[in-house]
Amino acid sequence: MSSAGNVMMTIVADTCGRHDTLGGACAAESNMVRYALEKRYMHACRQSFLKAIVEWEHGMDKRDITSNINFFMNVPVTPEGELNFEDGVSAPGKYVELRAEMDVLALISNCPQLNNPCNAYNPTPIEVLIWDGQDN
Ligand SMILES: [Zn+2]
Repeated sequence: MSSAGNVMMTIVADTCGRHDTLGGACAAESNMVRYALEKRYMHACRQSFLKAIVEWEHGMDKRDITSNINFFMNVPVTPEGELNFEDGVSAPGKYVELRAEMDVLALISNCPQLNNPCNAYNPTPIEVLIWDGQDN
């Protein structure tokens, strides 16, 4: 959903079934709070997204970035209401298929979250395929 409440993309297929919509993208601020003050200058997805839209040079700024989805990330909510970052439940070949409902700029970060032990500190490659709906 856009920040204006418009449907941007629809999930039309999902072979994993577990994704995080609450944890957000890692940021310099969250890395400092979650891990340590000296983590401020490590990789942070939020800063990568901001850099990408600025370099794209279409007049976008941070207000144009809507909430992200952490595909394949397993973050259950505890009975106390806390987020628990656990090992993923995806596997090679698992996929999510999205249909764009409007023109969208999709920003992707295969986060190398160096502080989080999920996946044994070993993020694995992703593959992105894009089809033009006019040809299907
Ligand atoms: Zn990240």
